[in-house]
Amino acid sequence: MTATFIKGTKIAEEVKREIAADVETLKARGIQPGLAVVLVGDDAASSAYVNMKARSCEQLGIYSRKLTIPSAVTTEQLLAEVRKLDEDEAIDGILVQLPLPKHVNKHAILEAVDPRKDVDGFHSANLGSLVLGHETLVACTPLGVMELLHRSNVKIEGANAVVLGRSDDVGKPQALLLMHANATVTICHSRTRNLAEITRRADIIVAAIGKTALVTRDWVKPGAVVIDVGTNKVSDRSEVRRLFGDDEARLKDFDKRGYIWVGDVDERSVQEVASMITPVPGGVGPMTIATLMKNTVKAARMRRGL
Ligand code: NAP
Repeated sequence: MTATFIKGTKIAEEVKREIAADVETLKARGIQPGLAVVLVGDDAASSAYVNMKARSCEQLGIYSRKLTIPSAVTTEQLLAEVRKLDEDEAIDGILVQLPLPKHVNKHAILEAVDPRKDVDGFHSANLGSLVLGHETLVACTPLGVMELLHRSNVKIEGANAVVLGRSDDVGKPQALLLMHANATVTICHSRTRNLAEITRRADIIVAAIGKTALVTRDWVKPGAVVIDVGTNKVSDRSEVRRLFGDDEARLKDFDKRGYIWVGDVDERSVQEVASMITPVPGGVGPMTIATLMKNTVKAARMRRGL
């Protein structure tokens, strides 16, 4: 069997077109959804993510504001900035780009975001609503994964789903979303014994662990659907060769930048047994941004009772 690729980039463009139409409808009523992104420090990767988000806003007619704050900021100072955004009528969504510097109390900052503007779905009130199955703002990456599964006609009801990873931003909400969609869910983590034995029973695997190509073909049941959330930077050419052989496009990409992004799944071997697989890059990543846009529009509607 050779797996079909679930093309996240294409699906994300489809979703963005729908959002742009929704934004137009809101604008006709005098409402322009607005997103504020808070970037602390000058981490190159975080800055690139924030710029991508701003570009998507522009593309879709969503107002965006970027706050760049020096990394020496104290928790109190950052709390004050977040509270200003909470009060700001032009802002419907607030995203604090992670990671934050170690001296900043991340929990306090995320809890200071007005839950109605929490487009990342990280506030305990929103996570609580997700547990209860109430309509709420849900973390973008797991919600994007659900959209990829739905739009690829993957049958979730009754499926055995294994989520690798139990982080607050991906693994936990992912497991809850799959459970609400009537899958039978197993959550695995770094202390799980006999991982491969568990994943081999899965109809759907979502890998979100941050370990390069850990999931190999012997972990996957023939015909399973494999969603690769992982984004791991590989900066060693021999590692690229080991993972992708003579794949010219990957090697060219590596030679141009000095690194490539690789998922948690060994794409080459898993492709031989899975029925569907998301590529890295171009799978879950683009959907995460599209879902952030969708959450911003949703927040704009919910805040106004629409
Ligand atoms: P995280 O907070 O570091 O959590 C990793 C999880 O994986 C933890 O629950 C950990 O278990 C588990 N884990 C680590 N090593 C393991 C192993 N060998 N076997 C089984 N479980 C293991 O990471 P995250 O934020 O969830 O992100 C996971 C990956 O997704 C990263 O590569 C990240 O860059 C990527 N990501 C991508 C997007 C996107 O849009 N594409 C968005 C978010 C994250 P313990 O709990 O026991 O420590």
